[in-house]
Amino acid sequence: MSIRIDPEKCTGCGKCRQVCPGSLIYKDEKNKSCMKYPRDCWGCTACVKECRFEAIRYYLGADIGGKGAYLYTKQDEPFLHWHIVKPNKEEKIITVNQQESNNY
Ligand code: SF4
Ligand code: SF4
Repeated sequence: MSIRIDPEKCTGCGKCRQVCPGSLIYKDEKNKSCMKYPRDCWGCTACVKECRFEAIRYYLGADIGGKGAYLYTKQDEPFLHWHIVKPNKEEKIITVNQQESNNY
């Protein structure tokens, strides 16, 4: 798996950099977020969840049949919509109410 940050969509808010547990995301000279070593990403998805500008795509690994499939999120508080885009571009959406996400 790996993430890709779209510099056209990135506003430079810095939230992804604050949450990455590996400090893998840095700020470039234009104040946009970048990945220095994408292969070091361990796929926690914290940055994907935090980005409110749909700038981060999380590509699924080949080991789980990724083949170009990716995830991104849309925020609609308290809801978080996980968009799953399959290789054929078909899209599925899983919605989580973040205020209830810790209720078991
Ligand atoms: S959270 Fe999204 S918009 Fe903010 S710096 Fe990171 S990639 Fe850019
Ligand atoms: S998925 Fe996790 S480890 Fe990978 S860049 Fe985002 S926050 Fe860092």
